[in-house]
Amino acid sequence: MEPSRRVKLINLSGIRKMFELVGEDSINLGLGEPDFDTPYHIIEAAKKALDEGFTHYTVNKGIIELRDAISTKLGKENRITANPESIIVTVGASEALHLALQALINEGDEVLIPDPGFVSYDASVKLAGGVSIPVRLKEEDGFRMTPERVLEKITPRTRAIILNSPSNPTGSVMKKKDVKVMAEIADDLGLAIISDEIYEKIIYDEKHYSPARFSENVITINGFSKSYAMTGFRIGYVTSTPNLIEEMLKVHQYVTACASSISQKAALAALEGPQDSINIMVNEFRRRRDLILRRLRSMGISCVKPQGAFYIFPKIKYPENFVADALKKGVVLVPGSACGIYGQDHVRLSYATSYEKIEEAMDRLENIYS
Ligand code: PMP
Repeated sequence: MEPSRRVKLINLSGIRKMFELVGEDSINLGLGEPDFDTPYHIIEAAKKALDEGFTHYTVNKGIIELRDAISTKLGKENRITANPESIIVTVGASEALHLALQALINEGDEVLIPDPGFVSYDASVKLAGGVSIPVRLKEEDGFRMTPERVLEKITPRTRAIILNSPSNPTGSVMKKKDVKVMAEIADDLGLAIISDEIYEKIIYDEKHYSPARFSENVITINGFSKSYAMTGFRIGYVTSTPNLIEEMLKVHQYVTACASSISQKAALAALEGPQDSINIMVNEFRRRRDLILRRLRSMGISCVKPQGAFYIFPKIKYPENFVADALKKGVVLVPGSACGIYGQDHVRLSYATSYEKIEEAMDRLENIYS
């Protein structure tokens, strides 16, 4: 059977391919999820949902209690006014991204994506019939997406700009003034911003600002995978203007009907319950970031200090060889080329693994690099 041209345009993620190579005593610095357990009160809420038979379809947009809680969170933490009717609970932020692009993009529309950036952006734009235009994020800018870099890439065909702060894979965080200017650009030129805020809470020395605070032309995407170590629950959400949400709802309805009822109850417990697990997790990530940064720099490797997420994106000579040599020593890394054409001189290391394992991994890498 001949597959469609559309799917043939995209490839399986280079990151997933690396995982197939993980051996018994390997240390995996390729992971894109917190190594922490999901907080127990969240697990209990899921168990309770099962015990109470909350195992059926929910309304398409998601249970109203959860959308209410998300609306309150967005108002308090992000200064976004989002009516619960303008929120869709999705199967992870991944689905939210798909909905946003499906609802927004016409054949041939250009979407500016951060490069290096999250692997799904390019693929999701192509699946929507769009053309992804990489915006090169430079080491000298701390890998931050700046209005100058974005303006250089805007053409009459540009329809949307994807922002991802804090960023996967670089850990960069956008400045408030840049977020504001980006919102102004969207308003002035009639463009949409798709803001992927999945790492908003995993942030160290800076503050997170949501563009939807400054403009209506924004689709905000977020989820529970990273902040609450809930990747397997597959739960996220999207909010935007009522008209666009109605369009996204059609896609959501036909693709998934609704997010898992059990996961929705768990997500509600995450928002309503104690938030201290986030601080504990972030403090530990900060300790590991400092370790990995110190060790890589002491090997003479140039690295931008990550301000958020749990990745570091150092510049490496012959990165493909480095990744292969690291693998022989039992350390799994992701080649930067998996994160876009401008990632090719880099590798991505995730510090979502224990402090001790990172120390051991750094000892092994030191042997290769010296
Ligand atoms: N956005 C970014 C930047 C990510 O790194 C990820 C997960 N790796 C996602 C979105 C998707 O997260 P999920 O679907 O688990 O909510």
